[in-house]
Amino acid sequence: MVTIQESARVRGFSGRDAPSYDAIRKCVHCGFCLPSCPTYRITWRERSSPRGRIWLMKSVAEGRLDLLDPVFAEEMNLCLNCRACEAVCPSGVHYGEILEASRAQLVQHQPRSPRERLFRFVGFRLLLGDMRRFRAANRLLRWYQRSPVRTLVRRSGMLRPLGLQRAEALLPRLADEFVVADGRFYPAENDRRGRVALFVGCIMSTAYSHVHRATIRVLTRNGFDVVLVSGQQCCGALHVHSGEPQLGRQLARRNIDALESPYLDAVIVNAAGCGAMLKEYPQLLRDDHGYAERARAFAAKVRDVLEFLVERGLTAQLGPLPWTVTYQEPCHLAHAQRITQQPRVLLRAIPELRLVEMAESALCCGSAGIYNLLRPDMASALLARKLDNALATGAEAIVSANPGCMLQLEAGLRERGVRLPVLHLVEVLDRAYQASAASSSVALPLD
Ligand code: SF4
Ligand code: SF4
Repeated sequence: MVTIQESARVRGFSGRDAPSYDAIRKCVHCGFCLPSCPTYRITWRERSSPRGRIWLMKSVAEGRLDLLDPVFAEEMNLCLNCRACEAVCPSGVHYGEILEASRAQLVQHQPRSPRERLFRFVGFRLLLGDMRRFRAANRLLRWYQRSPVRTLVRRSGMLRPLGLQRAEALLPRLADEFVVADGRFYPAENDRRGRVALFVGCIMSTAYSHVHRATIRVLTRNGFDVVLVSGQQCCGALHVHSGEPQLGRQLARRNIDALESPYLDAVIVNAAGCGAMLKEYPQLLRDDHGYAERARAFAAKVRDVLEFLVERGLTAQLGPLPWTVTYQEPCHLAHAQRITQQPRVLLRAIPELRLVEMAESALCCGSAGIYNLLRPDMASALLARKLDNALATGAEAIVSANPGCMLQLEAGLRERGVRLPVLHLVEVLDRAYQASAASSSVALPLD
């Protein structure tokens, strides 16, 4: 059998983060995954399908295609890493793993422009590498968002030459108060059933802090103490997905150091992308003797909040919400974590709430981390399709469970001039508890 290292040395990939040749060879080219692939469904091009991409990886691994061939780089980057292909593959190909390793190879070997190097250094190391710096930058951005400077900057046209126009437009409104992992403790409101840590993450803690507060309220109402354990960092998903696994490993170690505790029943995550990453720490740290076993024990405690609530059961009484909603499945919840039923179970548990399923609810909305900034054409095509499907349901709100999807949907609705709330599912549960406390229904929030 060819070992990963041997195959890497002689077949075009090299070094520690080379894709496993054995994993690549698991693909039997059946094509079962093609209808699930968003980029294939937009382009109808074999090379832009999972099977086509795995064929390209195999060609590089076997030395038949140069790692730096532009077609290889283009297809590795056009892929959304949504992992819809992985979820339906009968051969069990771990597509996300080999894609991320292929991207790591490109980052290691492909020449980068000074602009891209600067972008990676500032984004991945300076900002996402330390949450204090990240929050300081977010405070500055918050001031910018609320000051007349924003209008002046937009009117000046300086964002376009800097390549920041789309990023600035996509920037979510940052919260007046961030949720900080400062050791704060929220005791269970009702009969105590356990203690959990909330993983606060990066953008969730600054732009979606209201979702964190709703999560804390829902958990404490259902009998769980919630702790904002200090020392936690960004999950590292953006790093790993962008070919920077060494930075992802550094963050993973710091998160394990901070969050592993015998006094915690679970580490709760309300961002699908972060949850998938935390659950995959054992894979990321498999060669780290000091952390491999700790990563396995840590990952075993990680739960998406929706998964956790269904697993433990709701003990507090939900009130009525006479709303019609549709559900948009985050890829890293549905495909990477295989959590598809729990969100629907929770929505259907709310009295008077009507769930109307949209077509292609599990097809990627085009957000995919920073994909919507890097590949705006494909991201926009997928977003348009997603919004068409969502609006066709006649729903009064779109419900999702990941900040990236929510950001993307909100931006798309803004562009279309459609006033429709995009809510995290835990916010919907929180409103149902408010309705229960008020003994009446609660109106849909429009802002
Ligand atoms: S990835 Fe899986 S489903 Fe897709 S072609 Fe290969 S074996 Fe078939
Ligand atoms: S991860 Fe998503 S976009 Fe990439 S090949 Fe698989 S299904 Fe297609």
